[in-house]
Amino acid sequence: MVTRRIALFGGTFDPIHLGHTTVAEAAARQIGAEEIVFIPAKISPLKGFLPHASDGDRLRMIESAIAAYPLFGVSDCELQRPAPSYTLDTVRQFQRQHGPATSLHWLLGADGVGDLVHWHQIRELIDACNLTTMRRAGYPAPDFDRFEPLWGSERVAKLKRNMIETPLVDVSSTEVRRRLAAGEEVSRMLDPDVLAYIRAHHLYEKTA
Ligand code: ATP
Repeated sequence: MVTRRIALFGGTFDPIHLGHTTVAEAAARQIGAEEIVFIPAKISPLKGFLPHASDGDRLRMIESAIAAYPLFGVSDCELQRPAPSYTLDTVRQFQRQHGPATSLHWLLGADGVGDLVHWHQIRELIDACNLTTMRRAGYPAPDFDRFEPLWGSERVAKLKRNMIETPLVDVSSTEVRRRLAAGEEVSRMLDPDVLAYIRAHHLYEKTA
């Protein structure tokens, strides 16, 4: 019997922005999660480029951004493993840690749904946790029906059950980095402590 729910929120967080924290808060409410764990990826194998800030800087910016949210936590488990780090390995690690009475949700923005076909052992991942998709500004609502020939109707039904309605916040890390490199305003996109950290450490001052 499931007695608690934990949501795992993986991403590059390069840097973490207000889109991340806003949707995570809404997701926690809808799922009924006791905890949301932000999990910075060592390298996102699909992004094809290295993060612009170091692992340590990304982790510290997450710690600053989530400090005021009682339900939010952070795990460096993927940063500790050699790359590439796979979501299924992370989910299994949390399952071992929390046991069968804890239901795990893996949060994913709608922009990432098209890439799921390339994820390592995606069928096993869909079976192992609740892959929970959130709306994202500028992207259509996920269309899981097209994956039925690949993953089967039960998995597609599970993915559809796990779609949640989160606020549309039109912010991306790419846009934050672009603005910072161009010397443009970003204060409405970032937690003030994250912005202070970026300024103090001269992050994202140049385009890659
Ligand atoms: P980039 O612009 O570098 O691709 P990003 O803004 O998408 O970065 P990530 O760290 O890659 O940020 O995102 C982590 C997770 O959060 C992904 O599942 C992504 O879809 C989701 N996400 C990021 N920003 C938003 C947002 N504004 N609304 C909803 N989901 C988001």
